[in-house]
Amino acid sequence: MDLPQLSASLQDCQRCQLSAGRTQVVFGTGNPQASIMFVGEAPGFFEDREGVPFVGAAGKLLTELLQSIGLERSDIYIANVIKCRPPNNRDPLPDEIDTCKPFLLQQIEMIQPKLVCTLGNFATQTLLERKVGITKVRGQVIQLEHFVVFPLLHPAAALHQGNLRVPLKEDFQKLKAVLEEMSSTPSLPNTSSPPTLSTPKTSTKDIPAEPPTQMSLF
Ligand code: URA
Repeated sequence: MDLPQLSASLQDCQRCQLSAGRTQVVFGTGNPQASIMFVGEAPGFFEDREGVPFVGAAGKLLTELLQSIGLERSDIYIANVIKCRPPNNRDPLPDEIDTCKPFLLQQIEMIQPKLVCTLGNFATQTLLERKVGITKVRGQVIQLEHFVVFPLLHPAAALHQGNLRVPLKEDFQKLKAVLEEMSSTPSLPNTSSPPTLSTPKTSTKDIPAEPPTQMSLF
């Protein structure tokens, strides 16, 4: 199966209760050959209406942040942990994440990004498989088996809490430095040898688990 086939196979998905309230499945968008992928939480109102991730206010901020480090949306691929809008933009429920996670993992496997930037708690915890708060791990380079995870604050959080804007911009500057280092390093993840990034690397084992924090992003 390829990416368009996976997308097509999900368009009528009824695996969880979110199918009842959605307008459409929001699979993902961008460059299917990208070496950088961004993963958000869930579609919101505008994403549900347009069928494209990050087209609302948080998406506009994300686009600006990308441009601030010389990236266009067409350079990257963007998807969410869950592909259907939760009612009133509530947080995704554990069973919804469990149901949709295999499709995110399939997307990652097909795109084969070197770096996966997780936006906010849900995406970060889903890919790291740890209950770890985003404020603890943001800006860390975390090596998984096949790719590197780089957690970032969620742009929607910075829209709601103005004091997060500066740290979010700092996260993107750090991302720029990580990308520069990765592009000058011949051995990258996805290959048999681990990357040699000088930014401190963390393994998931080093990240202490913590109780989940409630963080409404919308
Ligand atoms: N829009 C998305 O597509 N995902 C989010 O996580 C937030 C807004």
